[in-house]
Amino acid sequence: MELNDKTFIVTGASSGIGAAAALLLAAKGANIVLGARRQAELDQLAGQISQSNGKAVCLSGDVRDEMYALALVNCAKDEFGGLDGAFNNAGTTGEMGPVPDMQSDNWHNVIDVNLSSGFYAAKYQIPLLCENGGGSIVFTSSFVGHTVGLPGMAAYAAAKAGLIGMTQVLAAEHGAENIRVNALLPGGTMTAMAGDDPGFHEVVCGLHALKRMAEPSEIAQVALFLLSENASFATGSAIVADGGNSINKF
Ligand code: NDP
Repeated sequence: MELNDKTFIVTGASSGIGAAAALLLAAKGANIVLGARRQAELDQLAGQISQSNGKAVCLSGDVRDEMYALALVNCAKDEFGGLDGAFNNAGTTGEMGPVPDMQSDNWHNVIDVNLSSGFYAAKYQIPLLCENGGGSIVFTSSFVGHTVGLPGMAAYAAAKAGLIGMTQVLAAEHGAENIRVNALLPGGTMTAMAGDDPGFHEVVCGLHALKRMAEPSEIAQVALFLLSENASFATGSAIVADGGNSINKF
């Protein structure tokens, strides 16, 4: 299989897009280090992967903790002998509401989970990828903050837009070391984050040319592409998988 003996860290693996990506990468033969806070969900996913003859280990923790990023990298090294890439995907919308009503604590939390976590991840992943002779990092950004300003999501939009800026800088800094860095921008996707409010889904679907939400597996396929050698000349990019939301926006 195309990813045999490759090792990837996947954060946000306890549900949604991250779980779908972990399953897909493992099905392609990759070793996976699964990260998120919910241990039981990670254990269940690891069991599912091993039942399909895949290889996964779980390390639960909080992506706001810099030392968790280091621990994930050490886990990849100790369990599988190195690292070939990472899908830094954990995220939260936090409390939503207009800026004048937003608590500063919420702002900082949303920035920490979505953006500072990416800095911690890159800080510890890049040295191991260098030892490996290169690799691929993908950050999950969003259509929110890029092509849509959804009311109530200022902190989230700022964090996700920040990831795109960091992606470009990291790609420029580490291209000579054969490290590719890309941002993946999903549109509205049927996960816990998108909730189950039909009114909200209708608004989001209305933004998409395809007039439907994405399935997590559809976003995972794009992550797989960016992490694999099929995307060997793609770096510093913001790749949209947004059902056509960005048509005519640039
Ligand atoms: P889910 O809610 O299903 O997944 C979010 C994941 O992030 C969970 O695995 C959760 O695990 C993890 N996570 C959240 N906070 C933390 C934390 N502090 N530390 C460690 N892990 C954390 O939603 P999605 O699959 O949709 O979200 C995946 C990514 O996709 C996110 O970055 C999101 O912003 C992005 N996205 C989603 C869209 C959508 O419409 N669904 C659209 C555009 C982007 P746990 O709770 O176990 O810690």
